[in-house]
Amino acid sequence: MKQLDLKLLKQLTQLDAVSSFENHLAKFLITEYQKYHVTIKKDNLGNLFAYKYSLNPQAKTIMIASHMDEVGFMVVSIDQGGFIHVKDLGSHNLSSLPGTLVRMTLKNQKVLHGTILAPAPHLKSGPANEPKIGDFQFDFGFTSKEDAIKNGVTMGLMLTYDAPFQVLNQHRIISKAIDDRYGVFMGLELLKTVDKQDLPYHLVIVNTVEEEVGARGAITATHFVKPDLAIVLDASPTRDHLLDELEMGHLGKGPLVRFLDPKQILNKRLMDLQIRACTLAKVPFQFYQSMGGTDASEIQKVYQGVPVLVHGLPARSLHSATSVYDINDLEAAKKSLLMLLKIVLEYFEDEEI
Ligand SMILES: [Zn+2]
Repeated sequence: MKQLDLKLLKQLTQLDAVSSFENHLAKFLITEYQKYHVTIKKDNLGNLFAYKYSLNPQAKTIMIASHMDEVGFMVVSIDQGGFIHVKDLGSHNLSSLPGTLVRMTLKNQKVLHGTILAPAPHLKSGPANEPKIGDFQFDFGFTSKEDAIKNGVTMGLMLTYDAPFQVLNQHRIISKAIDDRYGVFMGLELLKTVDKQDLPYHLVIVNTVEEEVGARGAITATHFVKPDLAIVLDASPTRDHLLDELEMGHLGKGPLVRFLDPKQILNKRLMDLQIRACTLAKVPFQFYQSMGGTDASEIQKVYQGVPVLVHGLPARSLHSATSVYDINDLEAAKKSLLMLLKIVLEYFEDEEI
């Protein structure tokens, strides 16, 4: 297998796109999709679709979905000291926020750099209350509210973590936004491999919007595509820092077979197919129970119901500025997904009543 395009992964994770601010990333993706034999479409909510049609017009439609948005923040007020206050878009570990670097994209696309105020320890007195997101002061160096406004700050602007993409050793990477640039990246990697093949089904690579605020894009995207089967690619948090082999989600142990989360229970025959694909591709896999949902939660309920599985990437410190993940897991995900695409139509051969 050809090496993964880590330059592309870096570009994708460095682009900023919180929920409803995905167009900048979508524009970049359109230029990538134009390298391949696909028809590009968009829906009114901002979902992006790359259709690779089969020569057989009656063929089944297989959708591979990943979400474009990352967790971040939105400007909701400016205080008299010139500090920005925000609403969180997606879930964050609030205790990890103080001292974190952030960046804000102005209306003219100019990017300003700042940090989240971390009061010095000797200024704190007594036990701290549980922080609320509105209490945090985002410091962009403005001297007053007027100064912030003069410099282009207004309500509704996007803020993201400001974090570098770094290869830590031969096979581990630290970056922001691997949730879910993993899926966006993998969609492109798969397309690159199958681009010149005539597939026995219509393949639609879908990039959804607004997953982090409740999988909103997945609903309209599924109505748009009307897939016969869907594969969701998303990153999930590891628990290997607990140093307990029984805890699920370890870096370097292969893609996650997510069998249960609060909003979706596995499709048994699809999971069997997923496991067989990993076995045939000779890559490891891990069973994984998740505490959070994915686009699959909504996709399964749309249209007449859609069989869907989630192919997960394990990542540490998810939903923070500094997620850590393993290139071996990315490679294993790609190999097993390519195998899955070879055998996926078997799902329709012995449909149960
Ligand atoms: Zn995600």
